[in-house]
This record gives sequence, structure tokens and C-alpha cells, in this order.
Amino acid sequence: VNYYLQNIQTKAHLNAFVEVYKDTALEQAAIVDEKIKSGKAGKLAGLVVGIKDVLVLKDHEVNASSKILKGFKSQFTSTAVQRLINEDAIIIGRLNCDEFGMGSSNENSSHGKVLNAADESRVPGGSSGGSAVAVQANLCTVSLGTDTGGSVRQPAAFTGLVGIKPTYSRVSRWGLIAYASSFDTIGVFSTNVADNALVLEIMAGSDNFDSTASKKPVPPYSELLHFDKRAKIAFFTETIESEALQTEIKANTLAVLDKLKKEGHQVEEVHFPLLKYTLPTYYILTTAEASSNLSRFDGVKYGYRSPHAHNLESMYKMTRTEGFGEEVKRRIMLGTFVLSASYYDAYFTKAQKVRRLIKDFTEELLNKFDYIVMPTTPSTAFKFGEHSNDPVAMYLEDLFTVQASVSGVPALSLPNGVDKSGLPIGIQVMANSFKEAELYAFGNYLM
Ligand code: GLN
Repeated sequence: VNYYLQNIQTKAHLNAFVEVYKDTALEQAAIVDEKIKSGKAGKLAGLVVGIKDVLVLKDHEVNASSKILKGFKSQFTSTAVQRLINEDAIIIGRLNCDEFGMGSSNENSSHGKVLNAADESRVPGGSSGGSAVAVQANLCTVSLGTDTGGSVRQPAAFTGLVGIKPTYSRVSRWGLIAYASSFDTIGVFSTNVADNALVLEIMAGSDNFDSTASKKPVPPYSELLHFDKRAKIAFFTETIESEALQTEIKANTLAVLDKLKKEGHQVEEVHFPLLKYTLPTYYILTTAEASSNLSRFDGVKYGYRSPHAHNLESMYKMTRTEGFGEEVKRRIMLGTFVLSASYYDAYFTKAQKVRRLIKDFTEELLNKFDYIVMPTTPSTAFKFGEHSNDPVAMYLEDLFTVQASVSGVPALSLPNGVDKSGLPIGIQVMANSFKEAELYAFGNYLM
């Protein structure tokens, strides 16, 4: 803990941490030390973990990187974090992110931007940018992020880490501040597959506080990392031929597929004609869900309340006007629009139908193949400000990550070399729902 506290101090300019739990982390470390000596330590004894600023911890402030939650303290701890604590992990602090998880660059944060340690003029990715940089810069051993449409996988790719988006419902969402409830997942950042598997195995599983959390038993992922089968692997013409794809990412992805073929695996090129509909479907449905989820922040119950209001109506209005950032407001308006009576069928209902088509296609393909392999992102980490004035260009960053989110299947991003500027490249592997063990074993083999 002292080692990491020191690093956090020397790398403070990266802005990964928004709060360091120095005293409680040191206290916890002393307790765990005793437990280790008496042979009673849990499975994560001494593991130093950072958590994204959307996961609540009892008696600690949490902001979702939004001014609207300024000063808000939680009365309880999220299930995912509690399960890590129960196994003697040490929570060292709270990590910067895009406001309410909305963004791909960590530039939309009330705590300011996070710098990519590989090149400080570039974004770390988002929305879990702080969680990625905390592990990248050696400020904690592993970190928790959330992935609604790529927010663990894309920053993992931009920082050269392993990042998982588990199957939807695999990890309880109790104590996770909601963005889009039918997409939100809690994932893990680590430098290697084994750490990642161990943390997910502890967090996952049914929970009385979240009726959507799956009751399926959780396999011991960390003990199932040996890979010795001949795998059937699909890749999409539409991703590999995508105009948006950076040449070096294409080359490195093809090199992996080639290597797999040479090692005796069956690798097949498949068409995914629905690829162009995945982003619109994702952004229609997530903005709709966000507009509903974020209606609770009205100045009455949580955090910030405008001091300028003169009656109840203006208190709601001014609190939300002053409390939410630009991107969050844009999404609330988009979501309200697609849910409005005259446009509901044209946008929301239609997007739900397309979601079903994408999900069916993905699951059927993953019944025939063990894995789908593709780049995690179309480009490596971009410069600050590059997409700030063009939301659509920013949304395009999620081109390859949203398929798994729309379908609910798990996806793992792994480091796959660097581009000519030395920036990390990510490769993404998808498997069918609840096949995290298979995903980790294959990931371990690929690394
Ligand atoms: N970049 C995507 C978005 O802004 C994904 C965010 C996420 O996964 N939380 O919605």
C-alpha cells in the first residue's frame, strides 16, 4: 500500500485518482497482515484495488464524475466491491471517469481529464480512463471499471492492458450508479489474464440485492486458464475491411489470426452485415435508458442543489442545468426524444427490434464458433480535443465494442503490440454468454 501511495503521489498529474483512501487502506493493510500471519487470509489478501467513481463505498463520497453528485456520500457498499473486501482486497481509492460513464476519452469529467501514461498528450480512452491509467501507471494492482458499450475494453486497448466486459448479469449491479441498465456491466483492468480472472470470479454471482443478477454458478475462472483445444474462430470481413480501421491495427489483428491458423485452429471469415446498425442501435437505446435513469437527480435527494432557484420548478431546472455536463445533457435530450410519443415507434421500438436481430446473429454465430476475434478499437489513443467538438466522431470510437454490449455476451480486450508511435493496440475476443472461463483460457493462450 505504501508503495502504491508513493506512486500515486509522484504520478498525481495523470489525474487518475479523484480520492485516495490513504488511512483506511493502511488500516486495512495492517488487518490483512495479521490475517496472513495467522493463516486466515482471504483469496485476495493484499490485492490493492482502485474503483471507478460510479461504484459506491459506504461512508465515502461518490460523484460519477458529475457536479450534480458533488458532496454525495453513500450509505452502503456496492456488492462487487464488498465481495472483494470480503476476500481481503484493499481498496486504495476512487478513480476518475467520464461523467456517468458517458464518453470514450475521459474528457467529460467534473474532475478534469486523465492523461494516458504512454503519451500524455493523448486520451486514455473512456469512460473508465482513470481505472485504466491507474493500472497502466502502476498506481494499484487491478482496478474496477464499468463497461456499457466499451468503457473497459477501449481504455484497456489504449493503455496496453487486459480488460473484461463480462456477460450482462454476471456481476450484480447493486451499488453501481446506473447509466443504461440493460447494458451496464462491471469489469476488471489488469496487466495479465490470471489476475483478471481471479477478481471476476470473486465478484460474480447471484445477489439478493439485484434481481437481474444471474443465478448461474460461477466457475473458478482462475483455475481454468489452461488452453489445449483446437478452437473454431470467426472474424468479420466488415471489421477487417472497415475504412475507419488504422492500418497497423489491421495488420496486427491479421497477424494473430494467421498465427492461430498456423497453430492448427480453424479460422473463418464471416460476414456481419448488421455491423453498421450496431452503433445507432446502441446510442438510441442507451440514451433512452439514461434519460430515464438520470431523472432521479433533481436536487432533492442527491448531491448538488442550485442555490439560484426561487421555487420548486426552477430548483429542478437550475439544478440539472448547472449540475449536468454537456455530453450528459445531450444524451438526456436524445433519449427523451426517442422515447417521446410521436417518435417512440420510429426510434425506440425499432432499435429494440434491431437489438434482437444483432443478439440472435451473435449468439447463433457463437454456437457455431468458439470465439469471434476483432480489433478492440478502430484507432489507437487519439489526441486530446481531437473529437471533442464532434460527438458523432467520438461515438464512432465504439464501433467494435458495442456488438457485445447490445448482445450481452462477454468480451475480453488483450494487448496486441504497438503502432509506429509506440501506442498500444488492443485485440478483442468474444465468446457466448457465460463463457468467461473459455474466454480467459483463450486470452491466456494468446498473450
Ligand atoms: N463510449 C460509450 C458511451 O459513451 C461507452 C461508454 C461505457 O461503456 N460506459 O456510451
